[in-house]
Amino acid sequence: MSKPEKLIVDGKRLDGRGPFDLRPIKFQAGVLKRADGSCYLEFGGNKVMAAVYGPREVHPRHLQQASNAIVRYRYNMASFSVEERKRPGPDRRSIEISKVSREALESVILKELYPRSAIDIFVEILQADAGTRVAGINAASVALADAGIPMKCLVSACAVGKADDTLVLDLNKDEDNYGQADLPIAMNQFGEITLCQMDGHMTSDEFSTALNMAIEGCKKLHELQKQALVEKYARGVAPIAVEV
Ligand code: UDP
Repeated sequence: MSKPEKLIVDGKRLDGRGPFDLRPIKFQAGVLKRADGSCYLEFGGNKVMAAVYGPREVHPRHLQQASNAIVRYRYNMASFSVEERKRPGPDRRSIEISKVSREALESVILKELYPRSAIDIFVEILQADAGTRVAGINAASVALADAGIPMKCLVSACAVGKADDTLVLDLNKDEDNYGQADLPIAMNQFGEITLCQMDGHMTSDEFSTALNMAIEGCKKLHELQKQALVEKYARGVAPIAVEV
């Protein structure tokens, strides 16, 4: 993919969005029969499946914690999910993303209710289009709720970045590759930030504005996550397509 000359033309991004717009988002809760909870998510060109198992017995047993459940999160990018085939199996990037995503969700899970057990979250990226870690966290949060895991609230996530000196919500692939900054954020329903990473550079004023943009994005995602759960439990399993 060659570098576009400009990422913003006449105030619009190359995919036609304004700086504050999210890509189209479609959540579907409870899609996997053999998982305790699951969620399929399309977020722009990202296609993500999250599956949750547990609370269940811990193997190996020495990982058990006497007063809490342990939470494990595996982010995996399929070889066919990206333009240039990815070597299968974990790498430094996927290990890092698994760790920060687990931390983003762990604080809302009531782990103390299930001592000596494990809650396992698997996130498979079937198609990647920038923002896969935040897509994974959104899907995993719905899958945890679908599994009936007691939580204080849902966690929602989205990225903000800077392209052609403009702050933009929910980076697309070109903005992610050729932009000046990428700031993935996850937030719980109480407004507490549970993930904050940054690539590139922003001034402190830009950072404050970007954080507010991400918070607004997370609020929209939170509504869509709730709708997906209501849709499953109120009317049976059906996809929800919402343009934002
Ligand atoms: N990507 C890729 N091959 C890789 C890793 C990433 O093509 O091995 C692409 C993929 O589209 C991904 C994007 O680069 O969404 C940005 O990756 P980054 O590490 O910034 O994480 P993400 O934005 O997906 O959370």
